[in-house]
Amino acid sequence: MSGRGASIMSQTTSLVTRFAPSPSGHLHLGHAYSALFAARQSAGGRFLLRIEDIDQGRARPDFEAAILEDLAWLGLRWEEPVRRQSEHMADYRAALDRLAAMGVVYPCFCTRRDIQREIAEAGQAPHGPDGPLYPGTCRGLSSDQRQARLAVGASHALRLDMVKAVALAGPLVWRELGEEGADQAVAADPLSLGDVVLARKDVPTSYHLAVTLDDAVQGITLVTRGEDLRHATHVHRLLQALLGLPVPRWRHHTLLCDETGRRLAKRHDALSLRRLRESGKSAAEVRALAGFPD
Ligand code: GLU
Repeated sequence: MSGRGASIMSQTTSLVTRFAPSPSGHLHLGHAYSALFAARQSAGGRFLLRIEDIDQGRARPDFEAAILEDLAWLGLRWEEPVRRQSEHMADYRAALDRLAAMGVVYPCFCTRRDIQREIAEAGQAPHGPDGPLYPGTCRGLSSDQRQARLAVGASHALRLDMVKAVALAGPLVWRELGEEGADQAVAADPLSLGDVVLARKDVPTSYHLAVTLDDAVQGITLVTRGEDLRHATHVHRLLQALLGLPVPRWRHHTLLCDETGRRLAKRHDALSLRRLRESGKSAAEVRALAGFPD
């Protein structure tokens, strides 16, 4: 084999991708697209599955069982064991402790209503991808004020002090894999998301922290996910830098939409994989519907 052939081979075999659904509902055609997309990207490499069940109010074991069944029916195979986020809270807590030791984390006692009121009173607020940014109310508390509230057991989330974190990490870029296989360097702009939540009031983690840590623990080399989560990558790249984690590449794919242009969601029950299967569609037909004809 020529030298070039050997290097292409080793690049392909070392690719590790994943599909990371939340078990809060049934998978629909958009999820099928995302899962097939990840599996195809890793062809010849490794494809992993992760169950993102930190939201204990919404995650359900019957949905998880249905996800595994639907994916297997679709023809996907993944490595065992499947990583379940709810089983790794100690890992997330340890990462939080490290970030806290760097001085970039603060407790936030605000309720949703407090935040809305603060924003309304300010009259204007910078907007991020998910609406107005957190106005920073609790960032300004003195250490005495914080201690007093912690001492009485006030429930609180933990937020990343974004300005401090960015100053500590310095400028960062991430590599986005383009359609033709070419990489594009994207400048990370985590400030555009404000002081994101790293640990919710009920669990010692959040989407951002758990995903970043898990991708590293699972050795993911190419993170594939929908275009709707592209903004989160600014934060994930920063967390990787702060925690000294390996840096994968990313590929944010387009989202499947219905005939009116709205992206597929749980409300499109008729397009859930269960319904499609019950209506007599074969797995090959559903793969084709998702845009992956055999
Ligand atoms: N669990 C997320 C979702 O279901 C996906 C997370 C990711 O791929 O980074 O939307």
